[in-house]
Amino acid sequence: MNPSSRLSAPKLVSSSRAQVPQGCAGDIEQILISAPRIHRRVMEMAQVIAEDYHGKRLIIVALLNGTVLFLADLVRHFEVPLSLDLIGVSSYRGGTSSGELEFTKRLKLNLRDQHVLVVDDILDTGKTLRAVSEELSKQSPASLKTCVLLDKPEGRTVNLEADYVGFIVPHLFVVGYGLDYDERYRNLPFVGVLHPHVYRKSSDQQS
Ligand code: 5GP
Ligand code: MG
Repeated sequence: MNPSSRLSAPKLVSSSRAQVPQGCAGDIEQILISAPRIHRRVMEMAQVIAEDYHGKRLIIVALLNGTVLFLADLVRHFEVPLSLDLIGVSSYRGGTSSGELEFTKRLKLNLRDQHVLVVDDILDTGKTLRAVSEELSKQSPASLKTCVLLDKPEGRTVNLEADYVGFIVPHLFVVGYGLDYDERYRNLPFVGVLHPHVYRKSSDQQS
């Protein structure tokens, strides 16, 4: 599926001029997307999605845990009737480099004949969103679309594009606004690039 033409995502080639707050300045190399910019874009996304689903009842299925901030900001701008459910997916990065997926929390809602929008934080290889879409399709929804805040097209290994994309970002490891490294940084109000010394420190500690 192609992204909605009314919602072509801005490509981020340069970082924000916003200053990294002192509290995390040692860990965050640069702010890629500032909090006000995220806020404006999420509002735009909500408007376009709400128009697309006008008159239809929508079920939003969000992936834990990275979507929590994005989801909360997105849905509060919707005036259409909707239901929310959460699905948990984790990938084993240990044994295999392919990162096999495991569902850690299943849905409560029945999706049969419903209009479903899957929301994730970031689309990289595409394996997660493809696996989740395949799993949800088994319930025969009336329609199934996908929405991500961030898209890293250079990481893609499967043929999949999201229907709604917030920002296209470079192939860097980003944290903040729900996205973590080792369960940290989810609370940051911006999206930032993690300083490589943070991974180096963790891998030194593990070895
Ligand atoms: P994919 O299956 O598309 O390769 O990856 C999707 C998942 O990998 C995301 O939902 C996210 O959990 C994780 N991921 C991919 N890129 C990044 C990144 O730059 N930062 C963080 N924090 N997580 C990422
Ligand atoms: Mg995720």
